[in-house]
Amino acid sequence: MTDRPPSHLFYQGRTRKPVLDQARGVYMWDVDGKRYLDGSSGAMVCNIGHSNPHVLAAMREQMERATFGYRLHFETEASEKLAAMTAARTPEGLNRVFFVSGGSEAVESAMKLARQWAVATGQGQRWKVISRTPSYHGCTLGALAITGYAPLTAPFDPMMRPMPKIPAPRAYLDGLDPADPLTGLHYADMLEDCLLQEGPETVLAFIVEPVGGASTGALVPPAGYMERVREICDEHGILMIADEVMTGVGRTGRFLATEHWGVTPDLIVMSKGYAAGYVPLGAMVAHERLVDPVLDEGGFQHGFTYAGNPLACAAGVAVLEEVDRQGLCANARAMGAVLKARLDGLMARYPIIGDVRGKGLLLAFEFVSDPQTLTPLPRELKAHDRFVQIAYDNGLIVYSRRTRGGVEGDHVLVCPPLIVTEAHIDEITELLD
Ligand code: PLP
Repeated sequence: MTDRPPSHLFYQGRTRKPVLDQARGVYMWDVDGKRYLDGSSGAMVCNIGHSNPHVLAAMREQMERATFGYRLHFETEASEKLAAMTAARTPEGLNRVFFVSGGSEAVESAMKLARQWAVATGQGQRWKVISRTPSYHGCTLGALAITGYAPLTAPFDPMMRPMPKIPAPRAYLDGLDPADPLTGLHYADMLEDCLLQEGPETVLAFIVEPVGGASTGALVPPAGYMERVREICDEHGILMIADEVMTGVGRTGRFLATEHWGVTPDLIVMSKGYAAGYVPLGAMVAHERLVDPVLDEGGFQHGFTYAGNPLACAAGVAVLEEVDRQGLCANARAMGAVLKARLDGLMARYPIIGDVRGKGLLLAFEFVSDPQTLTPLPRELKAHDRFVQIAYDNGLIVYSRRTRGGVEGDHVLVCPPLIVTEAHIDEITELLD
């Protein structure tokens, strides 16, 4: 690696990273000219691949017109168009779009809109947002309060109001049985139990990642889970928030992952694939019945200076156009099936891989010490860190986490851009082998 002067930057650890020089399609190059295949899409952001010419042209054109207009004063053609395109891709009734610049901001916005709706409709006693363990919903204090991952949240507990949590289904450990083997309770029914314990009249919402992202390693809910969650929310007047920050915009093979189960949430949050990493962008999409009472009562008391800026919206429009033009949802389904079969092949040959799971191109494999019992590897082995480093050295970027929040284990997410071809998947498989 090129000798570099001491850095003034700091991030989450002390490891000095290579410096990115260029990225095109599914490949990235560092300043030393080393090439990497992007098997992580930058934490599932670059869904349409790097340096897409249509998106770059749309951004250039917008830059020539106007780069900023504070949204208290102006909308732009780009923000109007992106809102309309988004509403056209979300379920009927979810047609009010609130722009933000990232996933945490989108989650905060959903929590606040839900709360203001409750106040505006005479349900001011509702404030609790139930979430799952493990889960990740963002790093701002509101989003962190509903994140089920103690190592991230514990230092900040005194600064946050405690929110109730229920266990996320452990589908890979329990097979496809939707019930917890210890209690015999259906995982979705744990939501009802929690509601009854908390007092349903105090509960505002339940937030769920339709397919777990980094927190659970692509855990797909067991049969009937999402549908039952929707029923329970309806029975108790609780809002259902789908956190589609990672799953949205085609990652799982549908524009929204909730579509796989035909479930309509009350609020949807999206970000990562929305402007595909060209510029920060996110959105909260709300049902009109939630927004109107809030606007009638004096407006939504929330907002961010840069949210919905013209450049971000122009990029978002061009990204959605590319997702349609290239048929990327269908490609995610087709290539996801190919990649899953290749990962299954690796599992058959390497007993250290105990499970391969996911949907579309949100796939993961799990390291285990015993493939029969799926016992996790000892934590001290730091298997995920070591594996990611080897992959990196070999020129493959993957995304990995050790989950400590309930499902204990080391998983490695393999989630390349949705533009991948079978030849790219062959290359990923060779680099993993
Ligand atoms: N929600 C989910 C499911 C996520 O995966 C993430 C980020 O990884 C977030 C929320 C927070 O998004 P951001 O990092 O853009 O704030």
